[in-house]
Amino acid sequence: MIKLNQNHLKLRSNYLFATINQKINEFKKNHPDVVDQIIKLGIGDVTRPLPRVCIEAMIKASEEMSHTETFRGYPDYEGDSYLIDAIVNKDYLPKGVNIDRSEVFVSDGAKSDTANFQELFDTDVKIAVSDPVYPVYVDSNVMAGRSGEFKDGRWTNITYLDATEQNGFIPKVPDEKVDIMYICSPNNPTGQAFSRSQLKAFVDYAIENNSLIFFDAAYEAYITEPDIPHSIYEIPGAKKVSIEFKSFSKTAGFTGVRCSYCIVPKDIVIKDPISKEEVSLNKLWYRRQATKFNGVSYITQRGAEATFSDQGQTEIKQIIRYYLDNASIIKSALNNVGFTTFGGINSPYVWVKTPNGMLSWQFFDYMLEKLHIVGTPGVGFGKCGEGYFRFTAFSSRENTEKASNRIANHKFGN
Ligand code: PLP
Repeated sequence: MIKLNQNHLKLRSNYLFATINQKINEFKKNHPDVVDQIIKLGIGDVTRPLPRVCIEAMIKASEEMSHTETFRGYPDYEGDSYLIDAIVNKDYLPKGVNIDRSEVFVSDGAKSDTANFQELFDTDVKIAVSDPVYPVYVDSNVMAGRSGEFKDGRWTNITYLDATEQNGFIPKVPDEKVDIMYICSPNNPTGQAFSRSQLKAFVDYAIENNSLIFFDAAYEAYITEPDIPHSIYEIPGAKKVSIEFKSFSKTAGFTGVRCSYCIVPKDIVIKDPISKEEVSLNKLWYRRQATKFNGVSYITQRGAEATFSDQGQTEIKQIIRYYLDNASIIKSALNNVGFTTFGGINSPYVWVKTPNGMLSWQFFDYMLEKLHIVGTPGVGFGKCGEGYFRFTAFSSRENTEKASNRIANHKFGN
C-alpha cells in the first residue's frame, strides 16, 4: 500500500492565493457587470518588463547557443563564473562586504533556496520565524516534519516571533533557545525593514546561542532609508552565523525568468553532536545542490549578469522607483482617509490596519465588493497579521492611481 508523506498532508489544503482567486471568481460570477473594474493589488508579482540590457544579453546568449563553438550544455551547479564575479564585485563589494567566490550559489529562485536550505538540518532543530512573514519558511519546515500540530493559527514546535504594531512590526530576539531564525527584511508582507541595531540584536543572539540566521533579502533593492542594512553581512560577526538569500525577481523583473543566489559563508562550521564532526555548511550545501539541482540556464545567467552593468543598474533603479512611487501613491491615499499604514518606504508592500477592527478576510470581502480592489488578507501571513491587509505596488501606475482614487472617494466604515 502506498503511504503518503504525512507531513505534507498536515499542511492545510488551501493555499492563500488559491482562496483569493476562488473568491474573485465567485465575485465575478455574481457581478458580471463590474468584472472589468476589478483591480488586483494582491499577489506579489511584478508587471514592468525586463530591463532592455537583460533582453539584449539573453538574445546574445541564445545566439551563442545556436553555434557549435559557443554552445553550452549543463551549467555549473553553483553558477557560472561571470555571474558569481558580478555578484561578488558589484553587489557585495560596494556594501563593504567581502564574499569569496566559492560562497556564492546561483539558483532558480529565493523561494526554492529558502524552502530547501532547512534540509541540511535534523528534524529536531528548533526554528523561529517572525510572524507575519512569507509563508514558505513555515510551510517548508512543516513538510520536513519539524512542526507539531496546527492549533489556533500556529504550529506547535515552531517558535513565532511576534511582529506587531507595538514593536513597529520588527520582532524581538527569541526569549528561548532556538537553532535557526528566519528573518525577512524588508519584510513581506509588512514592508517594514530592520534597522542596523535591530539586526545586530539577532546576530548577537545567534553568536551567543550557536544559532543560525536565514536572512531573506529579496527586497533589498527597495531600501531607501539610510540606516537600513542592505546585507546582514554589514553587521559584525554575521558571516559566522548567517545565510543570505537574494533574488533577481523583484529587483529586475525576473519572476518569470527565474534567477537568484544565496551566500553560504565558509566561516559557518557546525559542530555536529551526532557524528562529532565539524562540518562546513558551504560544503554541505554544495553537495546538496550537486545532487538535486542542475544549475540555472546560460541564457538566464547572462541576463542576470547584465543587471549589474551600468546600464542595467540605471534601468533597475527606474523600475524600482516606479514601484516605490506606486507604493507612495497607495500609502498617501490610505493615510489621507485615516488608515494607519506601515511599509511602502523601503518596500513595494503597504501594510494597512483594517478599519473598525474588521478581520483581514472581512476587509478583503469589503474591498472587493465595495471598491472592486483585491488585496491580501494579513492573516494569511501569520496570526499577527490578523486585522491587517497588504497592498502591493507592483501594478501599473494607471491601476494604482485608479485604486487610490477609489479609496480617496469612499466613505469607509459602513
Ligand atoms: N522571498 C520573499 C520574501 C518573497 O516575498 C518572495 C516572493 O514573493 C520570494 C522570496 C521568492 O522569490 P523568487 O521569485 O526568487 O523565488
